[in-house]
Amino acid sequence: MTDDTHTPFEPHIPFEQGETALLVDRKKRRYLVQLATDKDFHCHAGVIPHSEIIGKSEGTELRTNKGSYFTALRPTLSEIVLKMPRGAQVIYPKDLGTILMTADILPGARVLEAGVGSGALSMTLLRAGATVIGYEKREDFQERAVSNVNKYCDPETAARFHTEVRDVYNGIDEIGIDRIVLDLPEPWNAVGPACEALRPGGILCAYTPSIVQATQLRERLEDSPFGMCDTIEVLHRGWYIEGAAVRPNHRMVAHTGFLTSARLLTPT
Ligand code: SAH
Repeated sequence: MTDDTHTPFEPHIPFEQGETALLVDRKKRRYLVQLATDKDFHCHAGVIPHSEIIGKSEGTELRTNKGSYFTALRPTLSEIVLKMPRGAQVIYPKDLGTILMTADILPGARVLEAGVGSGALSMTLLRAGATVIGYEKREDFQERAVSNVNKYCDPETAARFHTEVRDVYNGIDEIGIDRIVLDLPEPWNAVGPACEALRPGGILCAYTPSIVQATQLRERLEDSPFGMCDTIEVLHRGWYIEGAAVRPNHRMVAHTGFLTSARLLTPT
């Protein structure tokens, strides 16, 4: 991003100094590059001066000094999430997409997120139009998340991100929140604070790598004003399609985490 008039949503504009480009080689390896006129992209396959990318259209093929080819594109959110600097482990795109539907994230929604980690989920919520209040107990992770959001989102989107260094288990100051999205080790400890902070009908959605965590959360939710509890996992299976060879890929990501959701009901 270089100024307020050019955003990644105007793909007809040629690459500019300061913005992030994605370079993809013929084996589909991806590299994020922040363009600067006086810098070069270096990798095992050779060197491409950034000045050869700046001014070109998306989809342009470029050749390194060693004769390897790369295609320059603007990165999608998935590509940013998988390639950006990380402190904490990020939630993977297949789960991020499902969180948007499960938690029904919509423009203008006020969303409480904890913990913020590297900011991958924050960016996803922000790009869907939400205002995000992020609680993160580690200051270094909070700083990393803010820096990622500022680097990879346009200024209007980044302005909807508000973070605090604090432990969500100790309570949530905000009230009338529309959605609460959790990615931390003991989400059941956030159920009490969530009951106070969410508006009636509000949705809580928690990502947990282990089913034992999901079960413990479900037990706490059963004992609370929350209802309509649900737990799912998301499996993506890619397909190999080449002439007559049409079959599922031999390898797939078998496990990332479980998504548990619930709605705050009004006690009778
Ligand atoms: N969803 C994030 C990754 C979160 S990793 C992403 O996509 O980038 C889990 C984060 O929760 C870590 O940064 C950890 O410091 C934070 N955390 C753990 N317990 C917490 C608590 N009680 N309150 C706030 N943050 C917490």
